[in-house]
Amino acid sequence: MAKPLKILFVTSEAVPFAKVGGLADVSASLPKALVGRGHDVRVLMPFYKCVKNTGLQFKMVARSVKHRLSGNILGFNLLETDSEGVKFYFLENNRYFDRENVYGPVGGDYVDNALRFGFLDKAVFPTLSAVNFEPDIIHCNDWQTGLIPLYLKFSEHGRIFKNVKTLFTIHNLAYQGIFEKFYMYMLKIPQQLFRIEGVEYYGNINFMKSGILYSDAINTVSKKYSEEIMTEDFGAGMEGVLKTREKDLSGIPNGVDYDIWSPEKDKQIKVNYNRDTLALKSECKKDLMGYFGVTFDEERPVLGYVGRFVHQKGIDLLSGIIDRLVELNVFIVILGSGQERYNAVFKAAAEKYPAHVRVCHEFNDELSHKIEAGCDIFLMPSRYEPCGLNQMYSVKYGTIPVVHATGGLDDAIVDFGDDPKNGNGFKFAPPGTEAFLRGIKRALAVYSDKDAWKRLMQQAMSYDFSWQHSAGEYETLYRKMLL
Ligand code: ADP
Repeated sequence: MAKPLKILFVTSEAVPFAKVGGLADVSASLPKALVGRGHDVRVLMPFYKCVKNTGLQFKMVARSVKHRLSGNILGFNLLETDSEGVKFYFLENNRYFDRENVYGPVGGDYVDNALRFGFLDKAVFPTLSAVNFEPDIIHCNDWQTGLIPLYLKFSEHGRIFKNVKTLFTIHNLAYQGIFEKFYMYMLKIPQQLFRIEGVEYYGNINFMKSGILYSDAINTVSKKYSEEIMTEDFGAGMEGVLKTREKDLSGIPNGVDYDIWSPEKDKQIKVNYNRDTLALKSECKKDLMGYFGVTFDEERPVLGYVGRFVHQKGIDLLSGIIDRLVELNVFIVILGSGQERYNAVFKAAAEKYPAHVRVCHEFNDELSHKIEAGCDIFLMPSRYEPCGLNQMYSVKYGTIPVVHATGGLDDAIVDFGDDPKNGNGFKFAPPGTEAFLRGIKRALAVYSDKDAWKRLMQQAMSYDFSWQHSAGEYETLYRKMLL
């Protein structure tokens, strides 16, 4: 049997400690799946205020660890806790992390994010020494961890941890961590790296570019997105850099933790159900209607949206068809955090059509579960989607997704019209209001045929997007990197 691997997984968010988006789900569920396969996986992340506020118990494992950044010696404490069999380390430094939010005030960034996440990246090495852990692999995630491979290659840490390999996972290429040049000095990045073949990006430094250039291997979170990002349309300016590393770039889809996200086990929904007890799903629909104070009507289709209110998610496509959806006599539930202007549009629609539209402009984990279980149809009109989780959650809840055929949505969803025997949803393209509306109408046409809809729901619910397969792919990739 192959020897178990030692992996340090570094992330800026993880469930149940801090969640902004899908990275948090993945940062909990992938390490858990790898531990389940016998590996020693430890996660490192900042000790934000919201982590403190979880009320969980944290053990102090190292106090005042010395750490040099921007010419100053700064200290941090290292805290530890166990979550579902995975050891989590937290970096406690109140100057950088004791704040209300993870990345910044709503819709913005903290001005010192370069230092906050540069601090995290550089702290990886004193952390490893403090806990006496020499990993085979440091698994980095998104721009917030993009300097780790650079520090390993170009600083004294490289000599100490010379056998350690780095994997850089791109969860979303659009957020790159671009900062002014003067941070080169503050972050102790060697001056010679400030060039086009290095971390320079139009006169600034780019953390994402650093991760792409200096890691041993790179992956994204679906096969389709790994191809898309090498094109101008999806590359967000990184397509050329990615092309230079094409042979080290792969796509591994995210999985789902079915202990949390399945209608059989979900602790936050009214009634648990599975594909053989589908009739119980209508209790969840009733519960969702009750949540919004709306009269329950079994026959009326309920459409749901959960996600950030940003252009990427195609939220403007949804706001663009809201009046026409109401004409179809459906009920629409929208849950999202992000740009206020979309909230204003949906709020106005909810006031105009109280029997048809509801919006919640907040981050609400419980409600997101209720929406997955209580809706008939789930909407994901994302313009691009590296992987996307909700389409996979929806399928398991028998809540049929209507998705734009891009990235992970295209990989996970099989169109019922194209393939009635295997279909688990509906796809549309291009990402425009007319195509989106047509996709929804196709779903509603099948919904009106009870038998066909039930068959579709059961078919969808039998799809398995658990981590089992993807965690195996990560293991294969780690081992290949170590050859
Ligand atoms: P992204 O990471 O781009 O935001 P993903 O689909 O990968 O998108 O993951 C988003 C995750 O965040 C999902 O688990 C989704 O349910 C959750 N989520 C997004 N917005 C909210 C919200 N307002 N309230 C609760 N959960 C949310």
